[in-house]
Amino acid sequence: MVKNIFENTKDQIATAVIVGASLSGLMAGIALAQEGVHVTIVDKVGENRRGGSGLRVDGGTFGQSKTEKLLKNLVSGGKSSVQLWSSIESRLRAEAKRNVKIDLRYNTRVVALDQDDDAAWVVTDQGKTIRGDILIGADGHNSQVRGHIAPHKPHATYSGYMGWIASMSEDDLPEHLRPGFDYDGPAVEMFDSFDGFKFGSVIEREEGSSESESRRIGCTWYDNKRSDLLRRLGSVDGMVVRHSLNGSDIPEQTLNELAEQASYWPEPWQSAALYAIQTRTLIGIPIKEYVPDRLVNGRIALVGDAAHVPAPVTASGFNESLQDAVALGKCVEKGIHGQEAIQALAKYESLRLDKVREMVQSGQFYSQSFGRP
Ligand SMILES: Cc1cc2nc3c(=O)[nH]c(=O)nc-3n(C[C@H](O)[C@H](O)[C@H](O)COP(=O)(O)OP(=O)(O)OC[C@H]3O[C@@H](n4cnc5c(N)ncnc54)[C@H](O)[C@@H]3O)c2cc1C
Repeated sequence: MVKNIFENTKDQIATAVIVGASLSGLMAGIALAQEGVHVTIVDKVGENRRGGSGLRVDGGTFGQSKTEKLLKNLVSGGKSSVQLWSSIESRLRAEAKRNVKIDLRYNTRVVALDQDDDAAWVVTDQGKTIRGDILIGADGHNSQVRGHIAPHKPHATYSGYMGWIASMSEDDLPEHLRPGFDYDGPAVEMFDSFDGFKFGSVIEREEGSSESESRRIGCTWYDNKRSDLLRRLGSVDGMVVRHSLNGSDIPEQTLNELAEQASYWPEPWQSAALYAIQTRTLIGIPIKEYVPDRLVNGRIALVGDAAHVPAPVTASGFNESLQDAVALGKCVEKGIHGQEAIQALAKYESLRLDKVREMVQSGQFYSQSFGRP
């Protein structure tokens, strides 16, 4: 049922602008809309992007708030599993589109933002100004909004190693290597830890696909010998990560070295790695980390990777982004007009800052020993 738009407080419409319509931005938008806030979410890219990797999603919904249950059901169907990034994104996007309080605008880049005593706003590359009672930065690890919250520490730092991500359809495996539908192994299996962790996973089939369609076999491994390559290709600049490596950018010699390494790994993870190397669908992600000192400045706040970037070994980045959204929803319950916005976001920071700092720090031991040996 659609809620009354004047219900948030004082018969005025409460409004928020969110920069970034990826997983964190969509979850934050849905959580705010649950509290009657009218949300505009903008993203610089179009809506038909695809992400190939799998995310470990905490599904347990027992004893949780309505918003947490809603988000967990959307992202995981209520069970802990490995879900394809694109499946999670498409379910969240569909939910956001269904919600009359959410205005989703793709192909809209934020070029400037600021705040005063009454509002916060963004200016887009189309020259439009979008104002809100609050502004949420969900713009990822290279966040521009972060510069307004922590100008003394605006960048995530390269951790000295990278993750290679490979996947293939189960159908492309010989039948005897397929895990089978009674597979009940761990959601993510560490199959080797010598010279960097290596993980295999069976990733749930894409949302909307038929029962006969296949799952994907994922293989991810860490590599601390490519810092020179990453810097040569512009993927890492000093200690700042600029972009990931696509298969087409990876030099032939590197692919050959990776294939040689993978040829010793157990099946089906070996096949997934070799398939991605041969088809150049392999993706290389330089690992970065960000321990926040602040999450909020006035009526501007950060969520997701803009707020905190943990090493993937924590498997917590996405799950904590969901908790950011839940906390944000809880904190705006009493309204966000005028000074209420400042109080609501200060409460958000007090609920989240220590938790997310601990979460990032929990992955730093591994990064310090493996990434900077
Ligand atoms: C290798 C790897 C494995 C991982 N595995 C796990 C796991 O198993 N479990 C887990 O919980 N987490 C995992 N994570 C972390 C997880 O993927 C992220 O924490 C999560 O997806 C949150 O992303 P986000 O929405 O905050 O940022 P992003 O997905 O980076 O989204 C940022 C969005 O902002 C937009 N944007 C940026 N700048 C602008 C601008 N100026 N104007 C408009 N739009 C803008 C971008 O286009 C983008 O859509 C993993 C991460 C990595 C790298």
